[in-house]
Amino acid sequence: MFHHPSFDDHEAVLHARDAASGLSAIIAIHNTARGPALGGCRVWTYVDDDAALTDALRLSRGMTYKAAMADLPLGGGKSVVIVPARGATSPAMFEALGQAIETLSGRYIVAEDVGSSPSDLAHTRRHTHHVTGLDPKDGGRGDPSPTTARGCYIGLLATARAAGLGPPSGLHVAVQGLGNVGYGLARHLAEAGARLTVTDISLERTTLAERELGAKGVPPEDIGLVEADLFSPNALGATLNATTIPALKVRAVAGGANNQLATPDDGAALAGRGILYAPDYVLNAGGVIKMAGEYYGWDDAEVDRRVDAIADRLDEVFEEAARTATPTHAVADRLAEARFGRG
Ligand code: NAD
Repeated sequence: MFHHPSFDDHEAVLHARDAASGLSAIIAIHNTARGPALGGCRVWTYVDDDAALTDALRLSRGMTYKAAMADLPLGGGKSVVIVPARGATSPAMFEALGQAIETLSGRYIVAEDVGSSPSDLAHTRRHTHHVTGLDPKDGGRGDPSPTTARGCYIGLLATARAAGLGPPSGLHVAVQGLGNVGYGLARHLAEAGARLTVTDISLERTTLAERELGAKGVPPEDIGLVEADLFSPNALGATLNATTIPALKVRAVAGGANNQLATPDDGAALAGRGILYAPDYVLNAGGVIKMAGEYYGWDDAEVDRRVDAIADRLDEVFEEAARTATPTHAVADRLAEARFGRG
């Protein structure tokens, strides 16, 4: 473990095994300096156990940075449930996960992630209170995506201001991905009068945005070539890479997708081209803020206030990046590390 390439001084890593339900899970707690480690439960068919461990170590670390830059009283954690085939889960498995989480006495708080749903976590909740992001019928506050989308909108406007672009009504934004986050963001932009060029691999989503939001649809392979003010990635990770960055014709990048930079060098490449990059985990923290609010019982006004502050944190990143001539992704990491005591 201590020599694992993705090990980053994690505080705890637990293998949770339950023969009766077939549960095999890894719970990684990266850092709890700011508070309990929050992170989703990923259910995946991994090629081997090392791939599962790598995911748990990397994703839990990412959550520490996201929570710190959202100024939340939370650290970073993640659980991965290893399944032999897609969908091979059961209520008993999620209950057994709850029993394992309860042994951690609140050091780890679970939420949904790829492969798990709020209704799965309702089973987990039977054995531990350390669950967030539940459906309203189970006492939760429901889908965090609209809050993520609102945070992305606020963050995109802050990015536009910092890049010297005008008000939202004068912006042209190229939106990649029209799912829960991307469509919500596009709707905010359309309501503010922005011009939108959009794409999704689902033609239905693109057509809907054309009809409802007055957007112009383009094929997925063309969205990174659009001459616009901002490019907004809201689909997959690693869309900013050595192939796509040289082709961008925008002044700034601001989107909700996780892990947009294929490598840290790509953050430097964007800066080198004079393209202002809004670090993804600073911009897309609305969902985690909402889940923190559910866990701690904050009212809507408190959640909104914290989501609005995404703009302030981006301003802090952009100012420090300009002052020190450092790429924004590196500045965000440094500011996050200072917030969780690694500065
Ligand atoms: P989603 O599955 O609802 O939407 C993703 C959309 O992207 C889908 O409509 C899909 O068809 C489209 N897509 C996939 N590949 C594409 C491609 N090559 N080109 C164009 N479109 C493509 O997911 P979501 O919840 O909207 O999340 C989007 C991104 O935001 C993900 O990276 C996710 O990790 C991140 N994120 C989401 C939240 C949240 O609250 N949902 C919070 C933080 C980060």
